[in-house]
Amino acid sequence: MHYDIVIVGGGAGGLELASKLGRAFGRRAGPEKILLIDRSPFHIWKPTLHEVAAGTLNPQQEGLSYSILARSNHFSFVMGELTAFDPAAKKLTLKEVHHPNGGLIIPERNISFSRCVLAVGCGSNFFGTPGSEHAYVLENAQDAQNFHTHLLNLFARASYSQDKLLNVVIVGGGATGVELSAEMMEAYHEIQENSGSGQRFRINITLIEAAPRILSGLPEKVSAQATQALRQKRINVLTATKVLEIFPDKVQTDQDAIPADVVVWAAGIKAADRNREYGLPVNRINQFEVNRQLQTPAEGVYAMGDCAACEWESGKFVPARAQAAHQQADYLCGLLKAYEKGRDFTEPFVYKDSGSLVSLGNNHGVGNLMGSLSGGSFFIEGLIAKYMYMSLHLMHHKAILGYTKTALLALARMAQKRVSGRLKLH
Ligand SMILES: Cc1cc2nc3c(=O)[nH]c(=O)nc-3n(C[C@H](O)[C@H](O)[C@H](O)COP(=O)(O)OP(=O)(O)OC[C@H]3O[C@@H](n4cnc5c(N)ncnc54)[C@H](O)[C@@H]3O)c2cc1C
Repeated sequence: MHYDIVIVGGGAGGLELASKLGRAFGRRAGPEKILLIDRSPFHIWKPTLHEVAAGTLNPQQEGLSYSILARSNHFSFVMGELTAFDPAAKKLTLKEVHHPNGGLIIPERNISFSRCVLAVGCGSNFFGTPGSEHAYVLENAQDAQNFHTHLLNLFARASYSQDKLLNVVIVGGGATGVELSAEMMEAYHEIQENSGSGQRFRINITLIEAAPRILSGLPEKVSAQATQALRQKRINVLTATKVLEIFPDKVQTDQDAIPADVVVWAAGIKAADRNREYGLPVNRINQFEVNRQLQTPAEGVYAMGDCAACEWESGKFVPARAQAAHQQADYLCGLLKAYEKGRDFTEPFVYKDSGSLVSLGNNHGVGNLMGSLSGGSFFIEGLIAKYMYMSLHLMHHKAILGYTKTALLALARMAQKRVSGRLKLH
């Protein structure tokens, strides 16, 4: 199999890039030239995983099939996991696919390319903390679903237990940990509303952050407002607290031992160890090192999104955020189109930080936006911040589905929530 452009990883960045390129090349040329590879058959926008985990978003409804997206956006799609990559021979290998009970479904495949974009994202970083096997992570839809199933069981267990108490510990006060703790508290309240008085239980949600404040990458005002909002929701926020070890029933910090029926680790990212085996330079968290054109030192091999280390300002790197992946998809689309047409493309990628928004539950958000006129950043919170946060998801859908389908999908999901409730309980 050979394709002119192969994109490995159909996440926030890779899928947008494949869709934009496919539409640019059109129905005839697109599927012949462009191949998207992902290890999953369906796409979920990663910033919504905390909602899947809490049960406020249904992955069966939210997931979009890559094959259907490929047909409507004029690219080809192959499901498979990248296991070997030879940048000199311009060839990659996808792992064989087995049935859960063992039988071979698809054999190992080799694919050659003229240009390849690596967009395989990142996983979790435990920084060597012992006991990681006792913690849940939110790296993909399956992780989020597994956690959700476990959470429902814990809710049920707590409601019939003697002390009627559930202890949840979330490690990492970045956007993921903050959003997950708020979303879980809402899920808890919804469960309580639907339960008989004899089945009610109490919940302790503790959010632990090693830095002196949560959301330490965002302005202090955003972090102060978020802390206040979480505390109002009765979430226990511990800052300047380092987790030393995770046990099946507690988390040991440098201050105290915190009882835990379940632990979620959301305290840092690291790309796959396998990235070190491809003969491409990587940094200490296994991100591919790229220049200002997102190119690795190998000719025709690019990396984008969370798996790429691209210098932004002196000493700083482009942050691992959905908005960076989105901007890089736009940039690489322009670059690859120019090269396909035999034109030069010398412009560097310039990351424009438009601010950050954090969801604090159903009708509440907080964040900072960069003013395009003032050049400074301004604070935003409440329902407007929440709506703006939701619009980021719509923008992603618009990039892969177009306006009409995005609007139809949004309406269908609103209707679905009205019919079956906000929380997924099965
Ligand atoms: C819970 C949560 C909340 C977040 N909230 C925000 C937010 O509010 N705002 C924000 O800007 N960012 C947020 N982020 C970060 C954001 O999701 C990422 O920065 C963004 O998804 C990165 O895009 P990407 O395309 O680089 O990688 P991803 O979106 O992670 O996509 C990587 C893709 O590669 C595939 N893949 C991985 N390895 C292989 C392989 N070996 N072979 C084949 N396929 C492979 C995966 O299946 C996946 O589809 C959040 C992240 C999480 C987990």
